[in-house]
Amino acid sequence: MNLDRQEAPLRRLMGPGPLDVHPRVYQALASPVIGYLDPVYLRVLDRIGELLPPVFGTQNRITHAMPGTGTSGMEACMANLLEPGDRILVCSHGYFGDRVRQMAERQDAEITLIEEEWGNPIDPERVEAALKQGPFKVLAVVHAETSTGVLQPMDDISRLAKAYDTMILLDTVSSLGGIYIKVDEWGVDAAFSCSQKCIGCPPGLSPITFSDRAMEAVKRRKHAVRSWYLDILLLEKYWGPERVYHHTSSSTLNYALLEALLLIHEEGLETRYARHLVAPDGVDDAKLRRYLLETFKMDIGGGFGILKGKVWRIGLMGYSSSADNVLFFIPALSRALAVQGFKTDLASGLDAVLSELDGELNDVEALRKKGVGTAL
Ligand code: PLP
Repeated sequence: MNLDRQEAPLRRLMGPGPLDVHPRVYQALASPVIGYLDPVYLRVLDRIGELLPPVFGTQNRITHAMPGTGTSGMEACMANLLEPGDRILVCSHGYFGDRVRQMAERQDAEITLIEEEWGNPIDPERVEAALKQGPFKVLAVVHAETSTGVLQPMDDISRLAKAYDTMILLDTVSSLGGIYIKVDEWGVDAAFSCSQKCIGCPPGLSPITFSDRAMEAVKRRKHAVRSWYLDILLLEKYWGPERVYHHTSSSTLNYALLEALLLIHEEGLETRYARHLVAPDGVDDAKLRRYLLETFKMDIGGGFGILKGKVWRIGLMGYSSSADNVLFFIPALSRALAVQGFKTDLASGLDAVLSELDGELNDVEALRKKGVGTAL
């Protein structure tokens, strides 16, 4: 029996998630474990219920964090909103859109699929043409398709779903906390996300929000939700004033989530979203990723599905979205390209980055707040 302790290596996480975690979130993760009905812990859950809705852009009463990763939130939305025979319009433009389709299949829903070429957003004209063949109970779409990096514009989808009286189910796994999400304005009825990307926590929780209309639809179901664990009506009894035991909620993860949400609001949503717009371009090469990991301990993501081996996904989300990570990344990428015979103009690259970051780098107080400087 091997009794050696296994320590996690220190990485600079710049892939599509998980991302680096702020030191304050690490501190929160070291909080003593407490019981799921401890009044102090229930206050933590209440505070999450207050701080999460503005990040989703909603006033939905049901806005909390499910146990499990983003996939658990996805499954919860599908299992609660769909019954056998219900019609769903799945808009798929990448790997995760296809996961939504697979889940709808398992609920025995009747699926109409709009498949867009990977790398393109969903075409609203195709959505309208499909909606005309409705009615559909649900229209599902991925807001930020992580596999391609495409952000789906929501205005047309929102207008069409309203016009055709269809509930919108939105995957915000890669966008929540990094870019504006307007659940109420867009008329989104159910949205889910994860803790380990722009929110800035370790994986293990899935923020979720359900509109009153979605909750009514769940209450009107003919059959019980097929998954007991993901039944939103049962979860509501624990999250809400009744406080009925549902599962052993992880105080460790929820303390971390609360800290991450505090960091988000201290920084301010607008400032945070502006910071996430600073992202370097990806170049295609799996060998280069190995080089970055082995030489610079830097973990970036490769492509999925038909984009496998063709693209890199360089994530600058949450705590990883910092000036020093960009500054570290540019020379590392330049070196990794040089090893493979690609020449880059590193000086110009750094110059461009520095002039972009100029104001930010001079603002020592702002950098300190973001934790910049702790990594280098
Ligand atoms: N949806 C999208 C857009 C994602 O990027 C991911 C994961 O990266 C998921 C769903 C699944 O989330 P998780 O891996 O946290 O279960």
